[in-house]
Amino acid sequence: MLSEKPFTTNNINDIVNKPLYFFDDDRLNVSNILHPDDLGFLETYYGEYYSEIVYYEYNRPTCPKCGSSMISNGSRQAKPNKWEGIRKKQYICPDCKKTQVTSLENFIKRYSNYTRSICQKALEYESISYLPYQKKAELIELENGIKLNRQTVYYHESTYADSFITQKEEDLQKILKEMKIEPSGTYHYDEEYLHENGDNIVRLAIIDAVTNLIINDQVMLQEDFDKEFLEIFLKYSLEGLPKKVLITDGYSAYPGIIEKICINHQLCIFHIIKNKRTPSFKKIRKLEKRIETIKNTIKGNEEKIEELKKYGKGRQGPPRKNDKKWKRNIRKRKNLNSENKRLRKELKQKRKELKEQKNIDERISNIYNVDSRKDAKRRFNTIYNQLDQFDEDTQKFLKNLDKKFDRTITYFRDSQIPKTNNKIEGYFKITLPKYLKRTYRTREGLIRWIRLQKIRWTKRNVITYQTKNTSQIQLKNQKIKATS
Ligand SMILES: [Zn+2]
Repeated sequence: MLSEKPFTTNNINDIVNKPLYFFDDDRLNVSNILHPDDLGFLETYYGEYYSEIVYYEYNRPTCPKCGSSMISNGSRQAKPNKWEGIRKKQYICPDCKKTQVTSLENFIKRYSNYTRSICQKALEYESISYLPYQKKAELIELENGIKLNRQTVYYHESTYADSFITQKEEDLQKILKEMKIEPSGTYHYDEEYLHENGDNIVRLAIIDAVTNLIINDQVMLQEDFDKEFLEIFLKYSLEGLPKKVLITDGYSAYPGIIEKICINHQLCIFHIIKNKRTPSFKKIRKLEKRIETIKNTIKGNEEKIEELKKYGKGRQGPPRKNDKKWKRNIRKRKNLNSENKRLRKELKQKRKELKEQKNIDERISNIYNVDSRKDAKRRFNTIYNQLDQFDEDTQKFLKNLDKKFDRTITYFRDSQIPKTNNKIEGYFKITLPKYLKRTYRTREGLIRWIRLQKIRWTKRNVITYQTKNTSQIQLKNQKIKATS
């Protein structure tokens, strides 16, 4: 990062008139406003004309001690990124003899061997995708021709992380402010549970349902997380922001807390329906299996009966009265027939149960497939009034839903309110994919990863999304103008 911009409208004329580099015998003098990472450009074009590069101060330095103009005094070796053949010009004060070497601190942190951009490479990669340190080192070598071992990459990453990420976060905040992207009042809240080095961690997040802004996202020890903390977390996160609706999944402690925060509540419909569907699905599977078994048994029995009927065929006259085999044959057929009769009855019953199970699930999902709050309420009431017709699980489910039904239909008030919490679940999955949940061994590493992914999310899902939306609105307006 440059401490000051070399090119501004004030000094652009000076720069045009003053060279950035010049030849002097077989030496290429390069002013210290040129980035060492860009030396490759000079090498490509002039490489054969010089044997070494000497960095000099773009502005002749004045003595920090007495203020006199300093003069040249040889050069010292410099090894940015361990490159050979680069020197830095030294200056001396003619009056007090103080010396000073050309500074490259705009590009290289003091005491570091590598340019900032090289030191920050690992973080740049990490902001896109997870990579082990060894692979980061390989990528740096591939991209920049600089060989680092993975410990150095690790060291750079942890040294530069905070300033690098903070700078990116501040830049993003500026862009968001310029674009006037602000919290909408409708938010998703959710938590996810992680393990790190034997500790149970909980991650709490609130994101904006309309603009996708991340309102808050933090990790903490699970043992410190309780109802009281959640209340403080929500209160603190939403303080001073518009408060319309908070979407959550069905955890039973939420309603009381959310009331205290003075925001409307929407329960995730997807979770509600899933809560019904998951046990139903088990039942349906069981019924379908039983039906299949019954059908096969009946078929098997029928085949056996057919086989038994063949007894005595092709013989003249009825079987003799004392034919024991014949008697057994008749008895067997009778038993098989009565078993089939019983099975057919059970089959009918099971088919009915299956139909009812599927039917009630369908009806429950359909409560929400309507256009108004009133219709949804009517559908729910109709089902609820038939409560005793349903199986025990369904009854329990309906009684439970009755208590919170109003919280499941808040979304009808405004088309901007989502009816599910899917967005924040997607946010969790994108910013911390399942395969990485166990990869981070330290809280520091995990937090760093999440911070980088928040930046990526904000770029892709807040800023780009807003830009796309705005241009679509503009396009639409243009079309409207064109047609009118
Ligand atoms: Zn001096």
